[in-house]
Amino acid sequence: MKPAPCLLLVLGLAGSGVTFSQAPPAGEKTWPRHSMERPRPPVVEPKYDGKPVPAPEGAVILFDGKSLDSWKSKDQPAKWLLSDGFMQVVPGTGPLKCGIPLKGDGHLHIEWVTPAEVKGEGQGRGNSGVFLDGFPEVQVLDSYQNDTYPDGQAAALYGRKPPLANACRKPGEWQSYDIVIRRAVIKDGKVVEKARLTVTHNGVLVQDAVEIDTSAQSSQLEFQDHGNPMRFRNIWFKPAG
Ligand code: MG
Repeated sequence: MKPAPCLLLVLGLAGSGVTFSQAPPAGEKTWPRHSMERPRPPVVEPKYDGKPVPAPEGAVILFDGKSLDSWKSKDQPAKWLLSDGFMQVVPGTGPLKCGIPLKGDGHLHIEWVTPAEVKGEGQGRGNSGVFLDGFPEVQVLDSYQNDTYPDGQAAALYGRKPPLANACRKPGEWQSYDIVIRRAVIKDGKVVEKARLTVTHNGVLVQDAVEIDTSAQSSQLEFQDHGNPMRFRNIWFKPAG
């Protein structure tokens, strides 16, 4: 008997530490991973003006633009560039990880910008990513008039789910991600309610409470080094409640 496509997806991702077993709603077409045939999400007007969004009361400041003391390149001090209120990927130095764990439910705010001078195309243009233990990568990419497979464009849950819309601002303009993490509810050692991830890109809802198969109750934040000089600033986490 041939395994169902969703089972193949689970098997294919088994080595990644993340499993996606949620079946698509009945009647919804399934697409192969990274399909270029898949319809592109609609391009919409971003609602973010590029100004730093002040951290709300009670938020934990993860990066204030002045210090990388809380961040590490593997087990060593941060090798990324700190300059004028932002951090920048130094290609080849690897990912940058925040030493402050994000515990429980909450709202993670991140601002990022792709280089004003456009170089490369597709996945090679302004690529980075937001990693949270247990969750799929929230893709960072210059998706302004830059075509790629929809499950790998900006604000996609990489390889799993395209965003509901393409709300990218232009290269060189600051953009925002607001990521709401809801942890799995565990009772007697069993997940009784799945974790969920909601992503707003430049003020536009692009991932709507997507179920994620993880029991992680705490995650460390990590940014990807994909070889492009991406910048990040003003990063904070507001725990729920
Ligand atoms: Mg990436």
